[in-house]
Amino acid sequence: RWAGRDVTLAELPIRDELKGSEPYGAPQLDVPVALNTNENSYPVPDVVVEAIVAAVRAEAAGLNRYPDREAVALREELARYLGHGLTVHNLWAANGSNEVLQELLQVFGGPGRTALGFTPAYSMHPILALGTGTAWVDGRRNADFSVDAESAAADVRRHDPDVVFLCSPNNPTGTALGLDVVEAVLGASRGMVVVDEAYAEFAREGTPSALTLLGASHRLVVTRTMSKAFALAGARLGYLAADPAVVDAIRLVRLPYHLSSVTQATALAALAHADVLLATVEAIKEQRDRIVTALRDRGLDVVPSDANFVLFGGLGDQKAVWRRVLEAGVLIRDVGLPGYLRVTAGTPAETDAFLAALDAALTEKG
Ligand code: PMP
Repeated sequence: RWAGRDVTLAELPIRDELKGSEPYGAPQLDVPVALNTNENSYPVPDVVVEAIVAAVRAEAAGLNRYPDREAVALREELARYLGHGLTVHNLWAANGSNEVLQELLQVFGGPGRTALGFTPAYSMHPILALGTGTAWVDGRRNADFSVDAESAAADVRRHDPDVVFLCSPNNPTGTALGLDVVEAVLGASRGMVVVDEAYAEFAREGTPSALTLLGASHRLVVTRTMSKAFALAGARLGYLAADPAVVDAIRLVRLPYHLSSVTQATALAALAHADVLLATVEAIKEQRDRIVTALRDRGLDVVPSDANFVLFGGLGDQKAVWRRVLEAGVLIRDVGLPGYLRVTAGTPAETDAFLAALDAALTEKG
Protein backbone atom coordinates (compact mmCIF):
# COMPACT_ATOMS: atom_id res chain seq x y z
CA ARG A 1 0.00 0.00 0.00
CA TRP A 2 2.74 2.51 0.95
CA ALA A 3 4.81 1.61 -2.08
CA GLY A 4 1.76 1.68 -4.27
CA ARG A 5 -0.25 4.83 -4.64
CA ASP A 6 0.14 8.08 -2.70
CA VAL A 7 -3.12 8.92 -0.95
CA THR A 8 -3.94 12.60 -1.42
CA LEU A 9 -5.40 14.84 1.28
CA ALA A 10 -8.53 15.17 -0.81
CA GLU A 11 -9.24 11.48 -0.27
CA LEU A 12 -9.28 11.82 3.51
CA PRO A 13 -12.50 12.69 5.32
CA ILE A 14 -11.11 15.97 6.71
CA ARG A 15 -13.35 18.81 7.94
CA ASP A 16 -14.81 20.89 5.12
CA GLU A 17 -13.28 24.14 6.46
CA LEU A 18 -9.78 22.65 6.23
CA LYS A 19 -10.11 21.57 2.62
CA GLY A 20 -7.75 23.48 0.38
CA SER A 21 -5.89 25.22 3.23
CA GLU A 22 -2.09 25.17 3.52
CA PRO A 23 0.03 24.44 6.62
CA TYR A 24 1.42 27.63 8.18
CA GLY A 25 5.14 28.23 8.04
CA ALA A 26 7.91 30.24 6.48
CA PRO A 27 10.46 28.29 4.42
CA GLN A 28 13.11 26.76 6.73
CA LEU A 29 16.09 27.10 4.38
CA ASP A 30 19.74 26.58 5.18
CA VAL A 31 21.09 30.07 4.48
CA PRO A 32 23.99 32.09 5.90
CA VAL A 33 21.68 34.88 7.12
CA ALA A 34 18.17 33.97 8.33
CA LEU A 35 16.11 37.09 9.04
CA ASN A 36 12.67 35.69 8.30
CA THR A 37 11.03 34.50 11.53
CA ASN A 38 11.80 37.27 14.03
CA GLU A 39 14.00 35.04 16.15
CA ASN A 40 16.78 36.48 18.29
CA SER A 41 19.96 36.10 16.21
CA TYR A 42 22.20 35.85 19.25
CA PRO A 43 22.90 32.31 20.47
CA VAL A 44 22.16 31.50 24.12
CA PRO A 45 25.22 32.69 26.10
CA ASP A 46 27.51 30.05 27.69
CA VAL A 47 26.54 30.88 31.27
CA VAL A 48 22.87 30.25 30.42
CA VAL A 49 23.72 27.12 28.41
CA GLU A 50 25.48 25.73 31.49
CA ALA A 51 22.52 26.60 33.73
CA ILE A 52 20.05 24.96 31.33
CA VAL A 53 22.16 21.81 31.01
CA ALA A 54 22.47 21.54 34.81
CA ALA A 55 18.74 22.08 35.28
CA VAL A 56 17.78 19.50 32.64
CA ARG A 57 20.35 17.03 34.02
CA ALA A 58 18.75 17.36 37.46
CA GLU A 59 15.38 16.40 35.94
CA ALA A 60 16.60 13.49 33.82
CA ALA A 61 16.36 10.62 36.34
CA GLY A 62 12.88 11.80 37.30
CA LEU A 63 11.55 11.69 33.73
CA ASN A 64 9.78 8.43 34.60
CA ARG A 65 7.27 10.69 36.41
CA TYR A 66 4.91 13.20 34.84
CA PRO A 67 5.87 16.87 35.18
CA ASP A 68 4.20 19.37 37.54
CA ARG A 69 0.87 19.68 35.73
CA GLU A 70 0.42 23.20 37.07
CA ALA A 71 4.00 24.38 36.37
CA VAL A 72 3.79 26.36 39.60
CA ALA A 73 7.47 27.26 40.01
CA LEU A 74 7.66 28.46 36.42
CA ARG A 75 4.47 30.51 36.66
CA GLU A 76 5.78 32.12 39.86
CA GLU A 77 8.96 33.18 38.10
CA LEU A 78 7.06 34.46 35.05
CA ALA A 79 4.88 36.56 37.39
CA ARG A 80 8.02 37.91 39.06
CA TYR A 81 9.48 38.79 35.66
CA LEU A 82 6.35 40.66 34.52
CA GLY A 83 5.86 42.57 37.80
CA HIS A 84 2.71 44.75 37.87
CA GLY A 85 1.65 43.01 41.10
CA LEU A 86 0.90 39.76 39.22
CA THR A 87 1.15 36.40 40.98
CA VAL A 88 1.20 32.73 40.03
CA HIS A 89 -2.62 32.82 39.92
CA ASN A 90 -2.56 35.37 37.08
CA LEU A 91 -0.10 33.38 34.95
CA TRP A 92 -0.47 30.44 32.60
CA ALA A 93 2.23 28.89 30.42
CA ALA A 94 2.26 26.52 27.45
CA ASN A 95 4.41 25.35 24.53
CA GLY A 96 4.87 28.70 22.83
CA SER A 97 2.35 31.52 22.86
CA ASN A 98 0.74 29.78 19.88
CA GLU A 99 -0.48 27.06 22.24
CA VAL A 100 -1.67 29.69 24.72
CA LEU A 101 -3.63 31.43 21.95
CA GLN A 102 -5.09 28.11 20.82
CA GLU A 103 -6.20 27.30 24.36
CA LEU A 104 -7.87 30.72 24.60
CA LEU A 105 -9.85 29.99 21.44
CA GLN A 106 -10.74 26.51 22.70
CA VAL A 107 -12.30 28.11 25.76
CA PHE A 108 -13.71 31.38 24.46
CA GLY A 109 -14.16 30.63 20.74
CA GLY A 110 -15.34 27.46 19.03
CA PRO A 111 -18.29 26.48 16.83
CA GLY A 112 -20.94 29.20 16.61
CA ARG A 113 -18.51 31.82 17.93
CA THR A 114 -16.48 34.55 16.23
CA ALA A 115 -13.01 36.03 16.59
CA LEU A 116 -11.96 39.39 15.16
CA GLY A 117 -8.46 40.68 14.41
CA PHE A 118 -7.10 43.81 12.74
CA THR A 119 -5.54 42.54 9.53
CA PRO A 120 -2.70 42.46 8.55
CA ALA A 121 -1.70 41.01 11.91
CA TYR A 122 -0.20 37.73 13.10
CA SER A 123 -1.37 35.23 10.49
CA MET A 124 -1.67 32.42 13.05
CA HIS A 125 -4.62 34.17 14.72
CA PRO A 126 -7.07 33.27 11.88
CA ILE A 127 -5.42 29.85 11.45
CA LEU A 128 -5.96 29.06 15.13
CA ALA A 129 -9.55 30.22 14.71
CA LEU A 130 -9.93 27.81 11.79
CA GLY A 131 -8.46 24.93 13.80
CA THR A 132 -10.82 25.54 16.71
CA GLY A 133 -13.94 25.96 14.56
CA THR A 134 -14.16 29.68 15.38
CA ALA A 135 -15.47 32.00 12.65
CA TRP A 136 -13.06 34.82 11.72
CA VAL A 137 -13.71 38.45 10.77
CA ASP A 138 -11.19 41.11 9.75
CA GLY A 139 -11.18 44.49 11.45
CA ARG A 140 -9.74 47.53 9.67
CA ARG A 141 -6.35 49.20 9.86
CA ASN A 142 -5.54 52.64 8.49
CA ALA A 143 -3.40 52.94 5.35
CA ASP A 144 -0.32 53.43 7.55
CA PHE A 145 -1.23 50.19 9.43
CA SER A 146 -2.20 52.03 12.60
CA VAL A 147 -5.46 51.24 14.41
CA ASP A 148 -7.46 54.00 15.99
CA ALA A 149 -9.72 53.65 18.98
CA GLU A 150 -12.92 54.83 17.29
CA SER A 151 -12.77 52.63 14.20
CA ALA A 152 -11.63 49.63 16.26
CA ALA A 153 -14.57 50.05 18.63
CA ALA A 154 -16.92 50.47 15.64
CA ASP A 155 -15.64 47.22 14.08
CA VAL A 156 -16.16 45.41 17.37
CA ARG A 157 -19.68 46.78 17.76
CA ARG A 158 -20.54 45.82 14.17
CA HIS A 159 -19.34 42.20 14.41
CA ASP A 160 -19.94 41.54 18.12
CA PRO A 161 -17.06 38.98 18.36
CA ASP A 162 -16.52 36.57 21.23
CA VAL A 163 -12.75 37.09 21.05
CA VAL A 164 -10.84 40.15 19.81
CA PHE A 165 -7.15 39.85 18.96
CA LEU A 166 -5.02 42.95 19.29
CA CYS A 167 -1.36 42.51 18.43
CA SER A 168 1.02 45.07 19.90
CA PRO A 169 3.69 45.50 18.64
CA ASN A 170 1.95 44.04 15.61
CA ASN A 171 3.45 41.36 13.41
CA PRO A 172 4.11 41.95 10.49
CA THR A 173 3.93 45.75 10.65
CA GLY A 174 5.80 46.52 13.91
CA THR A 175 3.01 48.92 14.88
CA ALA A 176 2.26 49.33 18.60
CA LEU A 177 -1.20 50.24 19.87
CA GLY A 178 -2.10 53.01 22.27
CA LEU A 179 -3.82 51.89 25.46
CA ASP A 180 -6.79 53.99 24.31
CA VAL A 181 -7.37 51.36 21.59
CA VAL A 182 -7.32 48.50 24.11
CA GLU A 183 -9.69 50.42 26.39
CA ALA A 184 -12.04 51.30 23.54
CA VAL A 185 -12.16 47.67 22.36
CA LEU A 186 -12.80 46.45 25.90
CA GLY A 187 -15.58 48.99 26.23
CA ALA A 188 -17.18 48.04 22.90
CA SER A 189 -17.03 44.27 23.34
CA ARG A 190 -18.74 41.74 25.54
CA GLY A 191 -16.12 39.06 24.76
CA MET A 192 -12.48 38.44 25.58
CA VAL A 193 -9.81 40.88 24.42
CA VAL A 194 -6.43 39.23 23.83
CA VAL A 195 -3.42 41.51 23.42
CA ASP A 196 -0.61 39.51 21.80
CA GLU A 197 2.57 41.15 23.11
CA ALA A 198 5.11 38.67 21.71
CA TYR A 199 7.47 41.58 20.89
CA ALA A 200 6.84 43.80 23.94
CA GLU A 201 10.46 43.82 25.11
CA PHE A 202 11.56 45.55 21.88
CA ALA A 203 9.13 48.47 22.20
CA ARG A 204 10.54 51.99 22.07
CA GLU A 205 10.63 54.28 25.13
CA GLY A 206 7.14 55.35 26.09
CA THR A 207 5.27 52.56 24.29
CA PRO A 208 2.96 51.09 26.94
CA SER A 209 2.08 47.45 27.67
CA ALA A 210 -1.52 46.36 28.20
CA LEU A 211 -0.30 44.70 31.43
CA THR A 212 -1.05 48.04 33.10
CA LEU A 213 -4.77 47.56 32.30
CA LEU A 214 -5.13 44.00 33.61
CA GLY A 215 -6.65 44.98 36.94
CA ALA A 216 -9.42 46.88 35.16
CA SER A 217 -11.08 43.97 33.35
CA HIS A 218 -11.44 40.22 33.76
CA ARG A 219 -11.99 40.04 29.97
CA LEU A 220 -8.46 41.25 29.17
CA VAL A 221 -5.62 38.78 28.46
CA VAL A 222 -2.01 39.66 27.63
CA THR A 223 0.12 36.98 25.95
CA ARG A 224 3.92 36.94 25.87
CA THR A 225 6.66 34.56 24.77
CA MET A 226 10.24 33.57 25.52
CA SER A 227 10.80 32.97 21.77
CA LYS A 228 11.90 36.50 20.87
CA ALA A 229 13.65 38.76 23.40
CA PHE A 230 14.68 35.76 25.55
CA ALA A 231 16.30 34.03 22.54
CA LEU A 232 14.54 30.77 23.42
CA ALA A 233 12.38 29.99 20.37
CA GLY A 234 13.58 26.38 20.32
CA ALA A 235 12.46 25.74 23.89
CA ARG A 236 8.80 26.59 23.12
CA LEU A 237 7.60 28.62 26.07
CA GLY A 238 4.79 31.14 25.87
CA TYR A 239 2.55 32.49 28.60
CA LEU A 240 -0.34 34.76 29.46
CA ALA A 241 -1.31 37.11 32.24
CA ALA A 242 -4.98 37.59 33.10
CA ASP A 243 -7.55 37.39 35.86
CA PRO A 244 -7.18 34.12 37.85
CA ALA A 245 -10.61 33.07 36.54
CA VAL A 246 -9.20 33.03 33.00
CA VAL A 247 -6.44 30.67 34.14
CA ASP A 248 -9.09 28.43 35.71
CA ALA A 249 -11.04 28.49 32.45
CA ILE A 250 -7.97 27.39 30.48
CA ARG A 251 -7.55 24.40 32.78
CA LEU A 252 -10.80 23.08 31.25
CA VAL A 253 -9.13 22.56 27.86
CA ARG A 254 -5.39 22.21 28.50
CA LEU A 255 -3.86 18.80 27.96
CA PRO A 256 -2.71 17.23 31.23
CA TYR A 257 1.09 17.53 31.63
CA HIS A 258 1.34 19.65 28.48
CA LEU A 259 4.58 21.33 29.60
CA SER A 260 7.37 18.75 29.87
CA SER A 261 9.75 18.69 32.85
CA VAL A 262 12.53 19.49 30.38
CA THR A 263 10.69 22.57 29.12
CA GLN A 264 9.88 23.77 32.63
CA ALA A 265 13.47 23.28 33.81
CA THR A 266 14.84 25.04 30.72
CA ALA A 267 12.55 28.03 31.08
CA LEU A 268 13.25 28.33 34.81
CA ALA A 269 17.00 28.27 34.21
CA ALA A 270 16.60 30.91 31.51
CA LEU A 271 14.47 33.13 33.74
CA ALA A 272 17.09 32.94 36.47
CA HIS A 273 19.42 34.56 33.92
CA ALA A 274 16.88 36.96 32.43
CA ASP A 275 19.32 39.87 32.68
CA VAL A 276 21.96 38.03 30.62
CA LEU A 277 19.47 36.90 27.97
CA LEU A 278 17.76 40.29 27.68
CA ALA A 279 21.11 42.04 27.32
CA THR A 280 20.82 41.57 23.54
CA VAL A 281 17.57 43.55 23.34
CA GLU A 282 19.24 46.98 23.17
CA ALA A 283 21.67 45.83 20.47
CA ILE A 284 18.77 44.43 18.43
CA LYS A 285 16.78 47.66 18.80
CA GLU A 286 19.82 49.56 17.51
CA GLN A 287 19.89 47.37 14.41
CA ARG A 288 16.12 47.78 14.00
CA ASP A 289 16.50 51.57 14.06
CA ARG A 290 19.51 51.36 11.75
CA ILE A 291 17.48 49.31 9.23
CA VAL A 292 14.61 51.84 9.41
CA THR A 293 16.99 54.74 8.68
CA ALA A 294 18.90 52.88 5.96
CA LEU A 295 15.72 51.85 4.12
CA ARG A 296 14.27 55.37 4.38
CA ASP A 297 17.54 56.73 2.95
CA ARG A 298 16.95 54.42 -0.01
CA GLY A 299 13.57 56.06 -0.59
CA LEU A 300 11.57 53.03 0.52
CA ASP A 301 8.30 53.20 2.44
CA VAL A 302 9.23 52.07 5.96
CA VAL A 303 6.68 51.34 8.69
CA PRO A 304 7.78 52.63 12.13
CA SER A 305 8.61 49.62 14.32
CA ASP A 306 8.37 48.81 18.03
CA ALA A 307 9.44 45.21 17.35
CA ASN A 308 12.59 43.33 16.31
CA PHE A 309 11.67 43.54 12.62
CA VAL A 310 10.87 46.11 9.97
CA LEU A 311 8.17 46.08 7.28
CA PHE A 312 9.14 48.05 4.21
CA GLY A 313 7.35 48.77 0.94
CA GLY A 314 7.67 50.53 -2.35
CA LEU A 315 9.29 47.43 -3.87
CA GLY A 316 6.99 46.76 -6.80
CA ASP A 317 7.16 43.01 -7.31
CA GLN A 318 8.17 41.96 -3.80
CA LYS A 319 8.41 38.29 -4.76
CA ALA A 320 11.17 39.07 -7.26
CA VAL A 321 13.06 41.20 -4.71
CA TRP A 322 12.67 38.46 -2.07
CA ARG A 323 14.16 35.88 -4.47
CA ARG A 324 17.12 38.10 -5.39
CA VAL A 325 17.87 38.84 -1.73
CA LEU A 326 17.74 35.09 -1.06
CA GLU A 327 20.14 34.42 -3.92
CA ALA A 328 22.59 36.66 -2.05
CA GLY A 329 22.25 34.34 0.98
CA VAL A 330 19.82 36.44 3.02
CA LEU A 331 16.41 34.99 3.86
CA ILE A 332 13.72 37.58 4.66
CA ARG A 333 9.91 37.28 4.69
CA ASP A 334 7.27 37.85 2.07
CA VAL A 335 4.20 38.27 4.26
CA GLY A 336 1.83 38.43 1.29
CA LEU A 337 1.39 42.22 1.27
CA PRO A 338 1.88 43.45 -2.30
CA GLY A 339 5.02 45.60 -2.59
CA TYR A 340 6.19 44.89 0.98
CA LEU A 341 8.76 42.63 2.65
CA ARG A 342 9.65 42.10 6.31
CA VAL A 343 13.15 41.76 7.71
CA THR A 344 14.16 40.71 11.22
CA ALA A 345 16.75 42.84 13.04
CA GLY A 346 19.69 40.67 14.09
CA THR A 347 23.41 41.31 14.52
CA PRO A 348 25.26 44.28 12.93
CA ALA A 349 26.91 41.87 10.46
CA GLU A 350 23.49 40.52 9.47
CA THR A 351 22.25 44.08 8.85
CA ASP A 352 25.31 44.69 6.64
CA ALA A 353 24.59 41.50 4.67
CA PHE A 354 20.90 42.34 4.33
CA LEU A 355 21.50 45.90 3.11
CA ALA A 356 24.15 44.75 0.61
CA ALA A 357 21.83 42.00 -0.68
CA LEU A 358 18.92 44.41 -0.95
CA ASP A 359 21.00 47.01 -2.79
CA ALA A 360 22.13 44.37 -5.27
CA ALA A 361 18.54 43.16 -5.70
CA LEU A 362 17.18 46.67 -6.26
CA THR A 363 19.96 47.59 -8.70
CA GLU A 364 19.37 44.41 -10.67
CA LYS A 365 15.69 45.25 -10.78
CA GLY A 366 16.30 48.78 -12.01
N1 PMP B 1 2.49 36.12 18.43
C1 PMP B 1 3.13 36.78 17.48
C2 PMP B 1 2.69 38.16 17.15
C3 PMP B 1 4.22 36.19 16.81
O1 PMP B 1 4.84 36.87 15.83
C4 PMP B 1 4.62 34.89 17.16
C5 PMP B 1 5.80 34.21 16.52
N2 PMP B 1 6.00 34.43 15.19
C6 PMP B 1 3.89 34.23 18.15
C7 PMP B 1 2.83 34.87 18.77
C8 PMP B 1 4.15 32.81 18.54
O2 PMP B 1 5.37 32.60 19.07
P1 PMP B 1 5.68 31.38 20.01
O3 PMP B 1 4.65 30.32 19.77
O4 PMP B 1 7.04 30.97 19.61
O5 PMP B 1 5.60 31.91 21.40
